[in-house]
Amino acid sequence: MCDTNGTGQSVMEMSHRSKDFKPIIEKTESLLRELMGIPANYKVLFLQGGASLQFAMVPLNLAVGEKAAGEKAAGEGAGGGKKAAYIDTGVWADKAAKEAAKFTGVEVRASSGDKAYTCVPDAPSPEPGDAYYHITLNNTIVGTKWAHIPDTGNVPLVSDISSCILSEPLDVSKFGILYAGAQKNLGPAGTTVVIIREDLIGHAPAWVPAMLRYDIHAGEASMYNTPPCYGIYMIGLVLEWLKNLGGVPVIAKMNQEKAGLLYQYLENSKLFYSPVEKPFRSLMNIPFAARAEDPEKRTELENRFVKEAAAAGLVNLAGHRLVGGMRASIYNAMPLEGVQALIRFMEQFQRG
Ligand code: PMP
Repeated sequence: MCDTNGTGQSVMEMSHRSKDFKPIIEKTESLLRELMGIPANYKVLFLQGGASLQFAMVPLNLAVGEKAAGEKAAGEGAGGGKKAAYIDTGVWADKAAKEAAKFTGVEVRASSGDKAYTCVPDAPSPEPGDAYYHITLNNTIVGTKWAHIPDTGNVPLVSDISSCILSEPLDVSKFGILYAGAQKNLGPAGTTVVIIREDLIGHAPAWVPAMLRYDIHAGEASMYNTPPCYGIYMIGLVLEWLKNLGGVPVIAKMNQEKAGLLYQYLENSKLFYSPVEKPFRSLMNIPFAARAEDPEKRTELENRFVKEAAAAGLVNLAGHRLVGGMRASIYNAMPLEGVQALIRFMEQFQRG
């Protein structure tokens, strides 16, 4: 930590433009390219602002018009910009759509909201004139994932992959843009990875601020301003670990085994169940609930479960505050033993 690569400095002390930092960012990028099989006609950007900033950057770079945002007429996209298609699969997908609607004409073409987001809806084909088509590949809060990547033809498919990046193989060439906050499967919070096909760079009109432009960040190789150097270094270490493990196919098998065990337990449990429809179950986020007719009894049981689990060393099991219940987030870093320990505890809790 205090002496990176024999330089006598921590990454935190280095100038991001120094000869010492250059190989660090280059190593992180080339490992990500190798592990994800990113084609040569895609740029990899290391940005800040989280996945949440991409909710705005995507429309600002692909769909807004020439006039500044302030000049738009009521109900019009910014500067008379294009329309964009969104599929609503829960909180993050909805946030992405609402943010984009500040800048462009957003059309939500399908939603699983009427099914409490326990599945992913059928994806309709894009419409002529769509600037892009946005999906959230893995829905962190409700624990669903897309079973198939939709074919959007010539309309660029854009996906938030914050909570599933590197969890299983993904054909990058099916997408125009992929983006992810680092904090789940990549490294510490503070770095956002954007993977963007080159032909989608350079479409932001002049009024879009420099820091929100893909052309600026790509043109400066993520060094327009000081990048999140330490996060990029840490991501490099995580990617090295993943490569040594055998890469994405190997971690995917481990993830399938971990998730498979927990889902199988939930299928057979008399007390707990998964609310998510089978074809759409996430490998990373597994929500579960207690069976009880009386809602008060159910909440009491679930609260007691979360409290007793924490006392037994199994932490962070409360469901997201918006949906309640429980949720086991079993990202790449969670070992199989963690899932086995959870199942043992659930069995013990059920016995009472
Ligand atoms: N999208 C998804 C799918 C997420 O899971 C999250 C964070 N949990 C976000 C977006 C928001 O990411 P960030 O905090 O990096 O802005």
